[in-house]
Amino acid sequence: MNLPADFVTYTKPLLGEQWNSFVEALNGESPASVRINNSKIAPAKPLAQVPWCDSGFYLDKRPQFTFDPLFHSGSYYVQEASSMFIARVLKQYASPSMKVLDLCAAPGGKSTLIADFLDDDSLLVSNEVIRSRANILSENITKWGYPDTVVTNNDPSRIGRLKGFFDVVLVDAPCSGEGMFRKDERAVAEWSLANVKLCKERQQRILVDIWPSLKNEGVLIYSTCTYNLEENEENIRWIRDELGADILPVDIVKEWGISSSFVEDVVAYRFFPHKTNGEGFFCAVLRKKGDEEKRVGKIKDKDNRSKINPEAEYKNLILNPDRFTFYLRDDRWFAFPSRLYSHLQIIRSELNIVSEGICLGEFKGKDFVPCQSLALSRFLNKDAFITLEVDWKTAVLYLRKETLVLTGLPKGYILLTYGNIPLGFVKNIGNRANNLYPREWRIRSSNVPDQFENII
Ligand code: SAM
Repeated sequence: MNLPADFVTYTKPLLGEQWNSFVEALNGESPASVRINNSKIAPAKPLAQVPWCDSGFYLDKRPQFTFDPLFHSGSYYVQEASSMFIARVLKQYASPSMKVLDLCAAPGGKSTLIADFLDDDSLLVSNEVIRSRANILSENITKWGYPDTVVTNNDPSRIGRLKGFFDVVLVDAPCSGEGMFRKDERAVAEWSLANVKLCKERQQRILVDIWPSLKNEGVLIYSTCTYNLEENEENIRWIRDELGADILPVDIVKEWGISSSFVEDVVAYRFFPHKTNGEGFFCAVLRKKGDEEKRVGKIKDKDNRSKINPEAEYKNLILNPDRFTFYLRDDRWFAFPSRLYSHLQIIRSELNIVSEGICLGEFKGKDFVPCQSLALSRFLNKDAFITLEVDWKTAVLYLRKETLVLTGLPKGYILLTYGNIPLGFVKNIGNRANNLYPREWRIRSSNVPDQFENII
């Protein structure tokens, strides 16, 4: 790998005698790793554990994930191992009934990880400022299947209006990407000292904008995938001194090979490819301190809950319906955890929501057309549908949104499963079945292999 000269001049002194091993690791292979969705599946293969994340596992080789139906059903997420360190932070600092914001969330690796740590009374707001990326985020969150999640598409300054609202804020900041050099050649080509400076300024702007939304004593998790001091320790020092926070320690095990901060007065956790099995990553945790600020108040109920028919058939589509509030929005029926419903209203009053809770479906004539979000929800009541377990070839046809022919099945809506995990719905009309898989999610590649070996 041809490292930029300025990068070498800057980073070599920081790493000292470790420099040669670091460069050697950069020229090596990037490990493939996945995080299992425990609410859907357990791995059938023996896989090596990512030490700092219970649901994280390394794969022997990097497979082609595109044609694995389990990947599309949200049974696992392909995530870089170092960034799974957020699991360790949450293990120590997550508490019941939290409101968590993942500010820079697309494509959703850390949001799906956070979702695993939420109890039934906790809420995750997963935000992405770039609209096209917010749609990808929403797709991945939907596939993960947790109902206590809202995906938003807002600038940090807008979210800052929710004063004192969040208990935990994760800023996985857009950065100069030095830690991705091994995985992504573009990161090397685009790197410059000037860009590091720009990134640092942008990170500070983001932090200032979002700071009011974190409550006093709330926890900020700050992470980047870059090595330099500017975007990392210097920013943590700046948050501590300028915004007002205490830096918190995270319990780690020496054998994991995680490195400490480059400076004495900042506690932080660094991942280098020559010491840990993963890419470059930086993480620090802070607790906000300051005067008791004004909190965002209750919002008047302006939604359509009054239209609820409690006996409605769609209530049987999910498990534990008594936990949920059912409502109509833009012609579609939704279910959202009742205990979090007032929070949803506050969010709706200030932010642009891309997706929320479980979308159940919509009435078209007399038909209730079920939504993909329902199929993938961990609260789906499978007994409410006729279910068909399909083989790999049929699953791929379905995920490519091709028309299927299902023989010997009644007409109507049928839930397809692969490995007993729901994939989505078709409407069987007799001579063929209409494929209800979302067009924008379909597998576009036509290079379908002849056969497939399970990945997990
Ligand atoms: N947390 C994500 C995950 O684990 O999958 C990765 C996030 S990536 C490091 C940073 C994200 O910040 C990108 O999705 C990018 O679009 C977004 N971003 C870029 N500029 C931003 C800004 N000014 N404010 C907030 N987010 C921004």
